[in-house]
Amino acid sequence: MVLDPASKHKNLNMPKSNVSTYFDESHIQQVLQAINIVEVIGNYVSLQRRGKEMVGLCPFHNDSKPSLNVNPGKQIFKCFACGAGGNAIQFIMRREQMTFPESVWFLAQRAGVKLPEKQVQAHEGMDRNELENLNRWAAKFFRDQYDQDELGRVAREYVENRFIRADVAKRFGLGWAPNSWDNLLKAAQKAGKPAAELARLGLLVEKEQGGYYDRFRERLIFPVTDALGRVIGFGGRTLGDDPAKYINSPESVLFNKSRALYGLHAAKDSIIKKRTAVLVEGYTDCIVAHQFGLANVVATLGTALTREHAEILSRYADTIVVVFDSDAAGEKAADRAVEVFFAQQVEVKLVSLPEGKDPCDFLLEQGDRGKESFEKLVSDATESLEYKWQNMERQLAQTNTVGGHKRAVDEYLMMTAQLLAQENIDNISRGYLLNRVAKLVGMTNDQAHRKVNDHLRRMKASVSGQRHSGAIPLENRSVRSQREAVEQEILEVLLNRGDLFEQAREEIGPDEFSDPVLKQIAQRLWDYFGSGGNGPLAAILAGCESTELCNKITDMAENGSRRENFEVAMKRTLESLRRLETEQSQQELHRMVSHAEEKYGKDAETALLLEIQAKHQKRSKHQSDPRQSNALFGS
Ligand SMILES: [Zn+2]
Repeated sequence: MVLDPASKHKNLNMPKSNVSTYFDESHIQQVLQAINIVEVIGNYVSLQRRGKEMVGLCPFHNDSKPSLNVNPGKQIFKCFACGAGGNAIQFIMRREQMTFPESVWFLAQRAGVKLPEKQVQAHEGMDRNELENLNRWAAKFFRDQYDQDELGRVAREYVENRFIRADVAKRFGLGWAPNSWDNLLKAAQKAGKPAAELARLGLLVEKEQGGYYDRFRERLIFPVTDALGRVIGFGGRTLGDDPAKYINSPESVLFNKSRALYGLHAAKDSIIKKRTAVLVEGYTDCIVAHQFGLANVVATLGTALTREHAEILSRYADTIVVVFDSDAAGEKAADRAVEVFFAQQVEVKLVSLPEGKDPCDFLLEQGDRGKESFEKLVSDATESLEYKWQNMERQLAQTNTVGGHKRAVDEYLMMTAQLLAQENIDNISRGYLLNRVAKLVGMTNDQAHRKVNDHLRRMKASVSGQRHSGAIPLENRSVRSQREAVEQEILEVLLNRGDLFEQAREEIGPDEFSDPVLKQIAQRLWDYFGSGGNGPLAAILAGCESTELCNKITDMAENGSRRENFEVAMKRTLESLRRLETEQSQQELHRMVSHAEEKYGKDAETALLLEIQAKHQKRSKHQSDPRQSNALFGS
């Protein structure tokens, strides 16, 4: 399997949204049939034929030799360097930073496939496009006032005093909302723009007694765009004496603060090229960074780094570098960063600026050397795991004894266990994370794994409050990992030879896959083949909204395709599965016998029979109910 270190530990969690609220799977298949992946990708990458495949430079990492393979037969793409893979929809999602429904829509329009329009409308009034146009109109209105000689002077002077050049202010579309309650309102009426829709976007506020007033008054306006440059909301800094220094658009159909990243449109290409995104906190920090030629900088809108931010940035970058301006801010940032790292499996690093300086001050103070000095800080950034460890160790080692260090190690491993328990992390990633933790605290991998597992067991035991909790007995570990290998092999074969599905279905159901990620993939395959699907790999990937899951599936398909004889491979794996199941049930039986004896003494035999019966019923469930819909894929 081709995996680079960054993708090795990616989390494969699915986003919450479900595409089936927008399209039926049949629509998605229709779009996939109408397009050719070679043409779609050919619009972005120059492709050359090599054997049965087309190759080109991968747009998702800094590629020097053609690593991107496009397979016209399977209608999929796969990068052998960075692990990116999927069908045409997933290519567009990544390249254009669109949501899944948006990419389906985008490709449908190109191919002339008509999708049911009603389903994509999120509400009764204006649709997304019209609302974006309305926002763009407002941004232009604010900009016009900024440019007006007298009216906009105060805003232009402020910007000039912050050492932001006029051309840069223009590029970021800075605008001005003068001190008035109905400035925008009147302009909207004159231009025939509906006030109710402007209120939905948060630009106007509805009065209790009816009518509207302007939300942004006496404020410098920062239009916030998405990755495609569409205006999704606004930020406003007061230039008067309003105690609220900054306000943002309220949440709307278009605007979500925990997802929005200021400057992403301007920064996207540079982030893709460098595979690194630098995150600062303020609008002006971001703008000034770009003015200094630091083109991969984006800003959050007054929030700390969220999972959603990380999810978006991980489409372009392997590493997110969070910049903060004081030790106190750093400690908070580190906690968030470690959490996000566990949740999204994207590398998060931290940079501390000299105490009390924001990035803007720092750059201006450095002058000509600003870019170079800032880049140096970024390249010296500390990994979040390490940063957190250093913090803990420093605090607890203040006692300056061996005990202090030991306590720090203990607390750190406890934190690791807690984060692992919170997140749904597959085994490969888990092992990788634990090895890193071990290295940091100066333990062997085995020691760290054991310690963290102890914590996890204790946590589970205290949650359930029972002696026999759901914790996995250690002695079953090797059977478990063998089983996962077998499960993976079954899927790898099926991804290449759907006609062997019936053989697999007789032996195992998706519910029985033990690894959570494999279970999701199995569910998809069982749904797809079970309903008679026999399209190329692209069709199997049709409804997959998660980039990481798509990468994993294409990886597995590729891995499987190297096998010589699929029939033999399937037969052998299913045999191994049966053998492992026998071993597992023997271990289980052994455990149940000792449990029953301990609990019921001489009535053990009866109790045991009941338990075995219950187990048996549970096991045969998948045969009566093979299809369960999966939030992962629309279907
Ligand atoms: Zn790549």
